[in-house]
Amino acid sequence: MRVLIAGGGIGGLTAALALLKHGIDVDVYEQASELKEVGAGVQLAANGSRVLYALGIGEELKTLSCEAQGKEIRHWQTGETWKLFDLGPVSIERYGAPYFTVYRPDLLEVLARALRRAKPDALHLGARCRGFVRDDDSVTLQLENGASLQGDALIGADGVHSRIRQSLFGADLAEFTGVIAWRGIVPMARLPAHMARRVGSNWVGPGGHVVHYPLRAGRLMNFVGALERADWRVESWSARGTQEELAADFRGWHADIQAFIRAIDTPYRWALVVRPPLERWSVGRVTLLGDAAHSMLPFLAQGAVMAIEDGYVLARCLASDEAETALRRYEAARRERTRRTVEGSAANIHRFHNRALADPEEGRRFIDREWASQRIAERYEWLFRYDATTVEI
Ligand SMILES: Cc1cc2nc3c(=O)[nH]c(=O)nc-3n(C[C@H](O)[C@H](O)[C@H](O)COP(=O)(O)OP(=O)(O)OC[C@H]3O[C@@H](n4cnc5c(N)ncnc54)[C@H](O)[C@@H]3O)c2cc1C
Repeated sequence: MRVLIAGGGIGGLTAALALLKHGIDVDVYEQASELKEVGAGVQLAANGSRVLYALGIGEELKTLSCEAQGKEIRHWQTGETWKLFDLGPVSIERYGAPYFTVYRPDLLEVLARALRRAKPDALHLGARCRGFVRDDDSVTLQLENGASLQGDALIGADGVHSRIRQSLFGADLAEFTGVIAWRGIVPMARLPAHMARRVGSNWVGPGGHVVHYPLRAGRLMNFVGALERADWRVESWSARGTQEELAADFRGWHADIQAFIRAIDTPYRWALVVRPPLERWSVGRVTLLGDAAHSMLPFLAQGAVMAIEDGYVLARCLASDEAETALRRYEAARRERTRRTVEGSAANIHRFHNRALADPEEGRRFIDREWASQRIAERYEWLFRYDATTVEI
C-alpha cells in the first residue's frame, strides 16, 4: 500500500512516521519550501507524548522540551493562585507518560528527522496540493506545479484551511467566536525572577485569559492571551500586532502580566474561529486528520495532540485492512473523541472568561467551584488516559 499525505505539519508528519512503523509506504507533500513551524509553544499532554514514545522519539523530544511541574489557575487581578493539577513525575505515575511543553519548531524538527531516518525521500517540500481525482482502485493527488501522484489512499493533513476538506465537502462554514488570541515568546531571563518557574499558569478574568508556560528546559516562556474583541478576524499564525496594542488589551491585569507583555518584542494574533463538526471525514480512499477534520479552540490545549492521536490510529487501521474499509474504521474510532474535545474546548471560554471574575470575592467562589478537584477530573482524566496505541479500532 502507498499512502499520500497532503500537509507536513504536526499531524501529517506523525501519521507518516506511524505508517512507516506499520510497514506502509508513504509520501508527504508540504507547501512550505523549508520545514518551519511558527515560533510558539505547544503543550503535549500524556495522551500525545505516549504516541511520540511509541514512535521512538520521546527521549529526543524530552531533551528539547520542558516538563512543567504542574499547572495553576490565577486570578487576573489579585494574582491569587489555585492548583489545577500536578505534572512532572505525577503525569508519568498517573498516565504512564510525561506532559511536555515544547517549542513548535523543535517538535517539527524531531518529527522530520525521524521521518528522514525511516525513509530519506518521504518528505516533499515546496509541494502545494491543489486537489485530487479518485477512481475505484486509486487516488491521484494533484500539485499546483502540475505534478500528479498516485496512491492507494490520500490523507488531508493540511490544517485549518484544508484544500482537501474543501474538495471533499465544499466551502468552509467558519464562524468567528469574538475572541482573539495574542501570542509571544520571551527568553526566561527577561522576566522578573519570581516568574521564572517551571509551572504552567492560566490567569482567568472577565472577558479574557492568559496562559503561560516554560519551553526548552526552562530557557523560554510562552505567552498566549485570549481576549473578547470583535474587530480582528484573521485566522493566521503570521499576523503581527504591536506591544502597545497587546498592553492596551490587558490594561488593569496583574503586574506580572504587564511585565510579561513588556518583554514580548513581537506579539502575533490569531482570530479564534469555530467550524461545525463535519458529518463525515472520509469519502472512499480519501480522509482528513488533525485540524483539517476537527479544528478546535485552543482552550483544552489538545488540537495538536488530537492530530497526533489521529495519525497513530489511522496507521493502525491501514495496517490491518484495505484502504476504504480502513478509513471508515479510522473515522469511526476517532469521531466521538474528537467531537467531545471540540465541545470541551469551546465550553472553556465561559469558564476562562467570566464576569464573576471582575469582583475578587465572587471570583474566588467561581474558581473554587469551577476548579474543584472533582470537576477538574471530569474535564481532563478521559483526555489524558486515552492510549492511541492500544485503543480498540
Ligand atoms: C494560539 C494557539 C495555541 C494552541 N496551543 C495548543 C496546545 O498547547 N496543545 C495542542 O495540542 N494544540 C494547540 N493548538 C492547536 C494546534 O496548533 C493545532 O491543532 C495543530 O497545529 C494541528 O496540526 P495539523 O498538523 O492538523 O495542522 P497544521 O499544524 O496547521 O499543519 C498543516 C500543514 O499543512 C500544510 N499545508 C496547508 N495547505 C497545504 C496545501 N494546499 N498543500 C500542501 N501543504 C499544505 C501547512 O503548511 C502545514 O505545514 C493551539 C492553537 C492555537 C491557535
